[in-house]
Amino acid sequence: MISKAKTTVSFYNGLTTIGGPMIEVAYGKSHVLFDLGEVYLPELKLPDEHYATLIKHQLIGDVPNFFDPALTGKPIDTQRWEHAAAYMSHLHLDHSKAMNFLAPEIPLYAGPITASLLPTLNEQGDFLLPAANHAQNYTRPIIAAKYCEPIEVGDIRLEIWPSDHDAYGATGLIIETPDKCIAYTGDVRLHGYHPDWVKTYLDRAHGADLLIIEGTGVSFPEEGQEQKGQEFHGPKSEIALTAEMVALIKANPNRQITFNTYPTNVERLLQLMAHSPREVVLHAPQAHLLKAGLGKDCYYYQLPGEAPYADLKPELAVDYQALRADKQQYLWQVDGHYEDLQVGGLYLHSNAQPLGDFDPAYRPFIQALTDKQIDFKAIRCSGHADEAELKEIIARVQPVILCPVHTLHPELEVNPFGTRILPKRGETITFS
Ligand SMILES: [Zn+2]
Repeated sequence: MISKAKTTVSFYNGLTTIGGPMIEVAYGKSHVLFDLGEVYLPELKLPDEHYATLIKHQLIGDVPNFFDPALTGKPIDTQRWEHAAAYMSHLHLDHSKAMNFLAPEIPLYAGPITASLLPTLNEQGDFLLPAANHAQNYTRPIIAAKYCEPIEVGDIRLEIWPSDHDAYGATGLIIETPDKCIAYTGDVRLHGYHPDWVKTYLDRAHGADLLIIEGTGVSFPEEGQEQKGQEFHGPKSEIALTAEMVALIKANPNRQITFNTYPTNVERLLQLMAHSPREVVLHAPQAHLLKAGLGKDCYYYQLPGEAPYADLKPELAVDYQALRADKQQYLWQVDGHYEDLQVGGLYLHSNAQPLGDFDPAYRPFIQALTDKQIDFKAIRCSGHADEAELKEIIARVQPVILCPVHTLHPELEVNPFGTRILPKRGETITFS
């Protein structure tokens, strides 16, 4: 009997905003959902982050038959759907924060680094949204996928490929139904540590029937070709960023030097530790993330009164007062408490929080450094492909259909090799 099933793709969220893509691919009685994030819009000043609140404000998609009935009040139709799975491309919150909303019986896949780091990030219960009927700091099981090996979900096969983004362990997805091949890039760039990994993934996706691509880099056309949003200033690659930091450390041999970066940008930290002429000392929570999530030991410090982490080796602890007094030996991660820094030091702000002027915490933070006459250097590198890189990615895949998501301006990404679609939120497309 010839199957009458067709491949469908439903776009539930994250289309014309930067973040939170939620997309379902279905065939016959099988379906998969990716990703599981929440759109970040703090200006909404929501009273809570309950399921109903997030649905109402479109911060997550209203996806049927995937979320926990204990949250939705609606049972999952297991007659209609015999095989289901979900996937997360990487650990940024706009791709992962709602993962505990997934029904417990539906398997959730991610790359091995994402699967390993997320439970540690959520140990205090302040990273992910909480699961129904569990403690605040519960993290539902994540299956660590083997890179590039097929995962069978009924009629659908998934492959999870290593990629590159400013979230350590980011991956891209290949989805094969009996008649179509679909690629979803997640967040991606070609100027990180592993453009070779990205290109290998894109070659696997070559000729895909549908390429779902992020488009953060075309979100700010009014700012011109060169500078798209604040995070696009600075070094052109992660390797150049590390080199710039090393050069600054070498140029300031007798000065207190501190830095901060985004906690999940683990690879930037690892590179800094590998190349810094000074000993890199992390704040204990960051060191714990590296130890618990990756088994990596590093020098760390605790602030006075902070509880120790059982997994951090005492011999790697550096005394906080020694850091405060140091001008030559250490490059240390500062996290608040700027009043403890030396007058006239150097501080390297590398995509750390507060990220920029839009954050109310930014001005007081700059003022605290100014009060100490600390030289502030912002050294940023974007996690996202810029306009030229997006074109290169599309040219490498040459998809039949292109679908830009995760951007304020999806219409600015074009497909010279076929057609392009700009689905509306909630729309389903059916392949003929
Ligand atoms: Zn991201």
